[in-house]
Amino acid sequence: MGYRLFPGFFKAINGIHTTFYIEKLRSSIDRKTSQDLSRRLGLAKPLAVMEQVHSNSVLVIKSALPKKQEIIQGVDALITKRDDVILGVYSGDCVAALCFDQEKRVIAVFHAGYNGILSDISGKVIYRMIHEFDSNPRDILIQTAPAIQSCCYNVSDARDNRVQRFSSQFGDDAIVKQGSNAYLDLRYALKRQLTKHKISRKNMLLSRECTACSENDYPSHYRTKFIEKKKQREYTLFSTIELTHDGSTT
Ligand SMILES: [Zn+2]
Repeated sequence: MGYRLFPGFFKAINGIHTTFYIEKLRSSIDRKTSQDLSRRLGLAKPLAVMEQVHSNSVLVIKSALPKKQEIIQGVDALITKRDDVILGVYSGDCVAALCFDQEKRVIAVFHAGYNGILSDISGKVIYRMIHEFDSNPRDILIQTAPAIQSCCYNVSDARDNRVQRFSSQFGDDAIVKQGSNAYLDLRYALKRQLTKHKISRKNMLLSRECTACSENDYPSHYRTKFIEKKKQREYTLFSTIELTHDGSTT
């Protein structure tokens, strides 16, 4: 599968390296145990993978993971200060976010679709980083993988009141209107939310690339279902972050 290393904030800060790469995976065979996935990707450390249920539940990993780590059920965000674990997050239109507190050397991932953003998953992650690791939001860097953007995310037919909920929480700019169609701007909403939680603009690297229409042919649930009219998307994006000390070759 195509392997892409995304340049970003997380190259070498304060003697700690983090890596951020995105892998295109066949979704049907990769959601077994994280050990299978880890082996396929050739990762040297145990990998923490979440079930991702569009919740705002956060898990803090404090002890070493067993080699045969199961998928972590019921959560959409992980935080750790450990350097012997890799945090992973799947996505295929939703926002996959990687976070790094460069002072306290804490990393986190979260998965946020419209439900996660409405239920403030980023705020929950930042809150836990502050309360459990004494993080200062000023030191937290956040980078996101390509996700569906307002060029494509048409929610005019959504049966829930998504448009109203987004505009009441994030303002009318979170919705792009074109004729009778309404498009959600998840990136804008997340940016507003992160700003509210005191993350500085210069510390946000929120991808503008659209999974549904990019020439890079990213996996997109929306494109598969609503444009190509296929049943199941074949691939998924997988982003990871880990702490590695200087001199390491990961
Ligand atoms: Zn698009």
